[in-house]
Amino acid sequence: MKSSNRRIFMFQVVASGATLACGSAHAGPKKIEESEPKAASLGYKHDSAQVDAKRFPKHTASEKCNNCMAWLGKAADPWSECDLTPDRLVSNGGWCSSYVKAG
Ligand code: SF4
Repeated sequence: MKSSNRRIFMFQVVASGATLACGSAHAGPKKIEESEPKAASLGYKHDSAQVDAKRFPKHTASEKCNNCMAWLGKAADPWSECDLTPDRLVSNGGWCSSYVKAG
């Protein structure tokens, strides 16, 4: 292999590795949609204040995903996975009917 061909080959290897690294950095769970069957069945809302009070009369406004036992992020994270939605992100201020107060 000529020197210039080797340089081109090495550049292509590095460039394709960088592309893979960038692609994996952006991969991950998507934000959940309230309309998804799982979210809808749990009465999930991105905003706890929007929870259907008739359907969930025991819900209180202070109950939010970021103070739920299932929340897997830090309290200040805007979105996070939770134990119930390992393949989706739920909102910091969201709520669903599986809410259990943390700690
Ligand atoms: S289980 Fe908890 S953290 Fe997960 S969506 Fe329901 S209220 Fe939010």
